[in-house]
Amino acid sequence: MARYHIETYGCTSNRGESQQIERALRDGGHRPVESPAEADVAILNTCTVVEKTERNMLARARELDDRTPGDLVITGCMALAQGEQFRAAGVDAEILHWDEVPEHVRNGECPTPTPDTEPVVDGVVGILPIARGCMSDCSYCITKRATGKIDSPSVEENVRKARALVHAGATELRITGQDTGVYGWDDGERKLCVLLERICEEIDGDFRVRVGMANPKGVHGIREELAAVFADQEKLYNFLHIPVQSGSNDVLGDMRRQHTVSEYVEVVETFDEYLKEWTLSTDFIVGFPTETERDFEQSLALLRETRPEKINVTRFSKRPGTDAADMKGLGGQTKKDRSSEMTDVKMEVVGEAYESMVGTEREVLLVEDGTEDSLVGYDRAYRQVAVPGAESAGVELGEVVTCEITGQNTVYALGELV
Ligand code: SF4
Repeated sequence: MARYHIETYGCTSNRGESQQIERALRDGGHRPVESPAEADVAILNTCTVVEKTERNMLARARELDDRTPGDLVITGCMALAQGEQFRAAGVDAEILHWDEVPEHVRNGECPTPTPDTEPVVDGVVGILPIARGCMSDCSYCITKRATGKIDSPSVEENVRKARALVHAGATELRITGQDTGVYGWDDGERKLCVLLERICEEIDGDFRVRVGMANPKGVHGIREELAAVFADQEKLYNFLHIPVQSGSNDVLGDMRRQHTVSEYVEVVETFDEYLKEWTLSTDFIVGFPTETERDFEQSLALLRETRPEKINVTRFSKRPGTDAADMKGLGGQTKKDRSSEMTDVKMEVVGEAYESMVGTEREVLLVEDGTEDSLVGYDRAYRQVAVPGAESAGVELGEVVTCEITGQNTVYALGELV
């Protein structure tokens, strides 16, 4: 679990983005620190309203780069609109969309459900942790110490909690856990498919369900059954988050990930067979201590081969007390170069996916406030769509609207109300 330092500039909306980032980080067990010098990750949430602001942002980014021993993440309007300026100024930072920041800080580890693992409704989004813990023992992970082996409440109990969230106003249910794919394994059963079917079939109401992170190993054994459930159930977003972490079986072995590259590919192929359009989300850790140049090339090749529409790239950093922390690490420059090379490929792959949406019509469930009077939502494949002017048009969060996709900003699409 990381110590983070966050600084926010600009408008109320940008402050709202920082609050969302902080909420996700705290839910993930991370804690804030006052000074960038104490932080494992410093986050600069930028504004780009006038030229003077831009100069200030660049100067502050340089200062944080100097003062933070850990990673620097730059997000916000200037990062998204003029990210290249930070690179041109020699600032060593990850440039990320607001939504990508918590995943990056997570450093390849699974999210930690809130301490009491109780469901909560946040606006129109209901968060349902279905289990706690995992079946793995990844060599770089510190989360495992806090959460232990998988502990799964019954399907009955989770359906009851899901129903309560929908009755409390949730129109999007987010099913979370360290590894949703191994839900039920402590009882000797694979229960994810049954749980999803029962939530979709037994709970009345207009809502959609997003399934959270599931490691490839757990999903591989149920891939046919799970893909069939996605194909059958209208309420499920066609979205699967399976973090592969590396394209090299040698590195996966050193990470103790328990899956192989081909098992991950087989899951992707199965979902491709069952679903016409779906979003593959995955994570890569670059610069793991034993990652050779060839291993890294294999990761890039896997990214290009499977073309995920959502990708989290994390530059490896040591977590105290883990086995990976004792391994002789790669140099900072190597990690930085690989991370930026992979980020370039990621932007190309993800940008292409969003560009292919332009000119199409989408049914979008609006779930979050955006900048100014825009609202943000997701289509059936969980592609993010920002709808400028939605509030002025009288649309509210929780509504499904039809949008024509008129543009894209690499990691999200822009929609116009039809
Ligand atoms: S699956 Fe691996 S990274 Fe995730 S919590 Fe378990 S040990 Fe940690």
